[in-house]
Amino acid sequence: MAKARHTNADGGNGKGAAKQTRGRVLEHAYDALLGAIRQGKFQPGQRIPENEICEWLNISRTPIREALRRLQAIGLLEHQPGGGVTVSLHDFRAVSELYAFREILEGAAAGLAAKHASETEVSLLKALAQIQSDLPDDAHIHERENKLFHKHIYEAAHNRFLLKSVESLHESIFLLGRTTLSVPGRIKTSIREHGEIVLAIAARDQQRADDLARRHIKSAYEARVLLITEALDVAARQPIAGNAQVAKV
Ligand SMILES: [Zn+2]
Repeated sequence: MAKARHTNADGGNGKGAAKQTRGRVLEHAYDALLGAIRQGKFQPGQRIPENEICEWLNISRTPIREALRRLQAIGLLEHQPGGGVTVSLHDFRAVSELYAFREILEGAAAGLAAKHASETEVSLLKALAQIQSDLPDDAHIHERENKLFHKHIYEAAHNRFLLKSVESLHESIFLLGRTTLSVPGRIKTSIREHGEIVLAIAARDQQRADDLARRHIKSAYEARVLLITEALDVAARQPIAGNAQVAKV
């Protein structure tokens, strides 16, 4: 596309078009890498092999490096002392801070929902909890349903400031990677916990709804710690040049 525009009478346009194309290539590299990390194709602690990314995306090293720098800037990747970058291993302190705050927010949301939810919203939450228990035992399906369930609790809380806070919190949770529902047994426990929270909301028991939502996040945190420990273990066993890993992309 840049070549075609270079033939324009105005040389300035050609320059602009080339810059635009570079921008698009960079966006493409960034989106592809972000997608691969989001889908767990690169695991926390895994080294990102630049050469193979170039081959995979069929683009030059410069936009790949720029895309990697951007992903480093948002904390998804981290630079290694020996050179190269790896998918960030979030430290336990940051994760425990994140979940501690989430516990407060989810507790508040469920408590406020018990107070302010309309009868229609309560019925919807009951229906969502029921749907979850009928779904197959698949972490991806339950991840989606879990998000939907919590979103409806936030809405039923009828508090715009709470909505804003949970939105920013969820951006950080996304950075943690694999869903905690992939921990064996977690789906079943989570469904039971959701059901209990809905019952407390339906009973308009603010304190109980708050307590149960907090407990739900506490058990999600325990599952998260388990996942991080597993990822650390996998990273520790990995060869330094993770060549074979890129085949997964
Ligand atoms: Zn949940």
